Amino acid sequence: MNACGDSAWALTAPVLLTICVCCGVLLLARWVKRQRYFPGRETFIVLHLASIWWMVAAGLEMAAQGPQCKVFWASMAWPGILAVPTFWAMFLWQYVNSVRQPLSLRTTLGLAVVPLLIWLMALSNPWHGLFYGPGTAPLSDAPGAPIRYQHGPLFYAAAAYLYLFMAFSIGVVLRAALVSYGVHRRHFMAFAVVTVFPWVANISYVVFGWMLFGFDPTPFSFAFTLLAFAWLIVGVRLFDLLPVARHLLLDALLDPVLVVDAQLRVIEANPAALKLSGLSGSWQGRPLAGWPVLGADLQVLLAAQPKAEQEQLLALANSARYFEVRIRAIERTTHRGTLVLGQMLYLRDVTQRHLSELKLAEALAVSEERLRIISDLHEQLREQALCDPLTGLYNRRYLDEFFARELALAQRERTPISLALIDLDHFKRLNDEYGHLEGDDVLKGVAQHLLENLRSSDALFRIGGEEFLLILPRADGQEARQRLDTICRSLAAHPMPTRGGARYVTLSAGLALWPEQGLALDELLQVADAALYQAKHEGRNRVCALPS
Ligand code: GH3
Ligand code: MG
Ligand code: MG
Repeated sequence: MNACGDSAWALTAPVLLTICVCCGVLLLARWVKRQRYFPGRETFIVLHLASIWWMVAAGLEMAAQGPQCKVFWASMAWPGILAVPTFWAMFLWQYVNSVRQPLSLRTTLGLAVVPLLIWLMALSNPWHGLFYGPGTAPLSDAPGAPIRYQHGPLFYAAAAYLYLFMAFSIGVVLRAALVSYGVHRRHFMAFAVVTVFPWVANISYVVFGWMLFGFDPTPFSFAFTLLAFAWLIVGVRLFDLLPVARHLLLDALLDPVLVVDAQLRVIEANPAALKLSGLSGSWQGRPLAGWPVLGADLQVLLAAQPKAEQEQLLALANSARYFEVRIRAIERTTHRGTLVLGQMLYLRDVTQRHLSELKLAEALAVSEERLRIISDLHEQLREQALCDPLTGLYNRRYLDEFFARELALAQRERTPISLALIDLDHFKRLNDEYGHLEGDDVLKGVAQHLLENLRSSDALFRIGGEEFLLILPRADGQEARQRLDTICRSLAAHPMPTRGGARYVTLSAGLALWPEQGLALDELLQVADAALYQAKHEGRNRVCALPS
């Protein structure tokens, strides 16, 4: 500061302009700070501050009239000169790669080491002369004339360091532009153009000596670039009105919407989502798992099917509400594939619908149960209607249905059907002798005896008091006769157990054969009845068939 102790100061037009630009950048930084979040925003703001440092030092250099004071302020500019490209590169890298964490303190300090060393080298130049050579002097004898600097090796080392970061910046945006498509590519191409601007200004100054108010134009070009960037990112967003419109839509939606980044931190939530969670401030960046009301359940859902696109039902354990959740991956398409930046969770309140569904399912289950009971009862009634309660055999009601079915089958397969009309012998006498109840027991025993001698295709009906009809599908006259003879003989040989003791009973049977002796059931029954009459007439306990 000694160098400026006796220096005069002049508030020239370029100095005033520099002050204006500085104020502009300061306001810009404030404005950016208030805008919605974008990756690298903190670094972007640091970048503004660094460029202000640079311009303030440049303004003071312009305002100072003494040459040594001017050189002092030129040296003081170096932290800003170095910080701008450094943080520029960091910011672009964060923005392009959607890195949401701010730079760590360690990284920031690490990046500050070389600039600090260079600053010290510039300040200590009067002792070593390695930064600005002895030829560093005012351009003319006029008071406050700009300085023409003779650059030493340390200056070139610092310049090389700077160019390295600038090359990195351009590399980052060009690469992003090359691997992106459509609107993203145009966005990054605009970034590249704006990034090149200070580069061009700096090269014009260093190589061609091009100056602005007799001064290095680079800090002013950076100020322009910052403005252009802020406009690209926040003001226009390069996607014109659409993002704003979408944001408004999101705000107006009654359904909760959340956006999480790749690390499952919530970076966007619409008012409906905040209302459901009971949150108001400082929620951005909070891990999804820690969100009140729905975070834990959503986290489980995402962990189960991280890329599922179909709707899933979410039952909120602690609020008895049901949501249909749709998960959409937010991706950026590049040449190498898709880069998943995060996921959008769209929740639709389906509590009413779900409760109605549950009620409906319950009602349906009750109806089904009732229907089952009714059909069981119906089946029982049918059984009762078709079966004889004493013997359990089919009664006459089922005969027509059964015979019609067997007839159709026999016609199709061209097979015979035999009928046997069975009547117990002297049953009246048995009743008279032992009583009606024992007669009933005998009837049951006979039914059982007949059933034991049936084949699976046969059917036995009780068609009268002690009269039975046996239908033998696929049995011709000879086979029917043999089987009935066997039944007749074995019945006569085996006494029937009754409540009063064992009783012997015999049967007489008359046969009829379809189709030879009749085509309809009535005809066949008449033939069988005539044959039975003959069996009774011939002495009972026998089987008779009329000649065909
Ligand atoms: P037949 O050898 O000529 O046939 O002599 P039958 O005594 O058997 O004469 P019929 O067939 O005419 O008599 C039928 C008898 O069967 C009359 C009735 O007492 C008896 N009966 C009919 N239904 C039942 C019943 O449900 N239970 C009992 N215990 N007896 C019955
Ligand atoms: Mg009879
Ligand atoms: Mg009889």
